[in-house]
Amino acid sequence: MDRRDPITTARGVGPVLGRRLAAAGCRRIADLLAHLPLRYEDRRTLGRLPGAEDDAKESVQPGPLTVVARLEDLRRPVFLKGRAGRRRFSRVEAVARDGAARVGVVWFNRPYLARQLEEGVPYLLHGPLRRRGGDGPWQLSNPSVERIGGEEPDGGGLRPVYGRIGEVPPSRVARLVADAIRGLRDTSGPEWIEEWLPREERTKHRLPRLAEALTEVHSPSRETSIEDLNARRSPAHARLAYGEFLLQQLQLAAARRQRRRSGKPHRYHADAAAWTAATGLLPFRLTGGQERVLGEIADDLGRKEPMLRLVQGDVGSGKTVLAALSCLIAARSDLQSALMAPTELLAEQHFVSLARLLGSRMAIALVTSSQRAASDGGAVEERIADGGIDLVVGTHALIEERTRFARLGLAVIDEQHRFGVVQRQSLAGKGFRPDLLVMTATPIPRSLALTVYGDLDVSILDEMPPGRRQIETRVTTDGGMEEAVEEVRRRLESGGRAYVVFPLIDGGEGAAAGLPSLMESGPKWARALAAPSGIVHGRLGRQERDETMGSFADGSIQVLLATTVIEVGVDVPEATAMVILGAERFGLAQLHQLRGRIGRGTDPALGEPLCIAIAGEPSPEAERRLEVFAASTDGFRIAEEDMRQRGPGEVLGTRQAGLPRFRFGDLARDWSWLVAARQDAAELLDRLTDPENDALRRQLGRRIPGLLS
Ligand code: ADP
Ligand code: MG
Repeated sequence: MDRRDPITTARGVGPVLGRRLAAAGCRRIADLLAHLPLRYEDRRTLGRLPGAEDDAKESVQPGPLTVVARLEDLRRPVFLKGRAGRRRFSRVEAVARDGAARVGVVWFNRPYLARQLEEGVPYLLHGPLRRRGGDGPWQLSNPSVERIGGEEPDGGGLRPVYGRIGEVPPSRVARLVADAIRGLRDTSGPEWIEEWLPREERTKHRLPRLAEALTEVHSPSRETSIEDLNARRSPAHARLAYGEFLLQQLQLAAARRQRRRSGKPHRYHADAAAWTAATGLLPFRLTGGQERVLGEIADDLGRKEPMLRLVQGDVGSGKTVLAALSCLIAARSDLQSALMAPTELLAEQHFVSLARLLGSRMAIALVTSSQRAASDGGAVEERIADGGIDLVVGTHALIEERTRFARLGLAVIDEQHRFGVVQRQSLAGKGFRPDLLVMTATPIPRSLALTVYGDLDVSILDEMPPGRRQIETRVTTDGGMEEAVEEVRRRLESGGRAYVVFPLIDGGEGAAAGLPSLMESGPKWARALAAPSGIVHGRLGRQERDETMGSFADGSIQVLLATTVIEVGVDVPEATAMVILGAERFGLAQLHQLRGRIGRGTDPALGEPLCIAIAGEPSPEAERRLEVFAASTDGFRIAEEDMRQRGPGEVLGTRQAGLPRFRFGDLARDWSWLVAARQDAAELLDRLTDPENDALRRQLGRRIPGLLS
């Protein structure tokens, strides 16, 4: 028996069960072992049923109880109609007796128990003991129930409780796992699964061996802390999480090293004076943070291997400016650069501001898919291909489609949280090895930065340009419109501008949920705010959108009624107010991103920037989200919280974004193990060829064939 054997070789698994397990992704014995218990029950001490004499005493407390008792008065199941007659509920009742003590037992939705259980024989019962109706007689509700022979010495220790695997019920899963571990140990001895974690790492972190860890998570020994187990923080759980992180970090470290080894074909001709001259073109002085990050970029560009750097910084911290300077340096070195934005609107904005700043010093072109559709793209593409254009600004259509460069040196990906790692790789896959600068305004949690973007170097811009004002954020419910109108009007009167953000363009599907839409509620807001207004959303043509945005920027329109198309990058310094409708529908990161559109100006006459989030009927989670949103403007804090609430997959958008799927480790919970794995991996890479690490190399090879050839 081997853990890589098909599941059908496990004891008790025939073809039918084998198919059901396989249908749920459990194909090999190893998959079964990776199915960890959801929680653990503490059955280490056998209790007693409360007797009549205990009734008045304080000594009996409600809570989980493990007892051996005989059943009597076993009733037939009672079926109850659920709401709307849809679902049926069933109830089976009995009395548990232990000497003179008698306590009622009730099971819900397990009608078969009435047939299976027998009166008068001893059972081990485990479940919550509580008073019926809060102060009535004691009752055991929904206890697990097992027939016991005479020899059971205690309640059964620490019991794992599993979730189902597809259609296979938890109790069956428990038996299969226990049998599998016993079987593996019987055939291969105590070292029934190959240990691949080097001794050094095991000792350093005081972690159990793999066989022991797997045994412990599935059948913990009595001394283990139940709290640690249930929090998945036992040494055994830690071993599994750390091991998993370490494998992934080793792959990343290997990829980084490989990248370091291979050079890039192009060179920059830029000394310190060139950078200073470029910086001098800006109408302001760089912040200390910008200086530092620019230094890191300059270092990277000067190296022989291509840059792969992620710049994280809150909205408005001045990232795009750094990208612009880098592109200028590239042009001075006779290299082309590309700046890619997630939306056309943002690409167009970048194009306009870059053209304003650098247009006289380099040839800049805009490439978008709508422009291509208008078929005026051909000429531009030719000029890119023959090297006549220094900087190409566009959406990721740039990398997906046919754009060919004569000598691409630098690629900037703005707002990486919207790009997948996939796109990043597809760029590299196009055959060129440009320096890659990735910008994200939604700071991703550090733990994600280490995993998903673990092969990147990370710069952090944690300082805002001077004069930025703290944005006040208020969260109200639907009744809050009047207050919002009043506050916004005050700001409009002093020359400010305001955004009103809607979750939907028009009624349609979402209207049923009572969500405000741009088309239906927009006019009402426009009237109430009594200022010239315009509308933008994703379905408008480019020209119309441009015109409206232009009017908003120059002040002929003061109110912009919009969907989340304005989420990224739009830069209007006079905007000091934002109302977000249906705020319960937005994720934390998105809310933060939206809010970043206001308070970018420094003119004190405009008044304090204010964001009002109006929520319809927030769920408890939405309420919590909005609370965090109102309490913090720190992007990193918001990102961590966002990940805690929604999980790493959601935070990144899609699985495709390159998020490795960890079976054991949890990026939020096991953060410190991830950090340890990252550090260890860098160092372990040098020892990887030692004979004692054969098993580790095999383990790595299994995950990504050929990586370490
Ligand atoms: P980000 O890309 O991080 O959101 P930008 O680079 O677009 O930030 O900068 C936001 C705004 O702040 C722009 O209007 C930019 O011109 C301005 N800005 C950037 N750096 C500075 C600075 N050091 N001092 C003053 N204004 C700055
Ligand atoms: Mg930017």
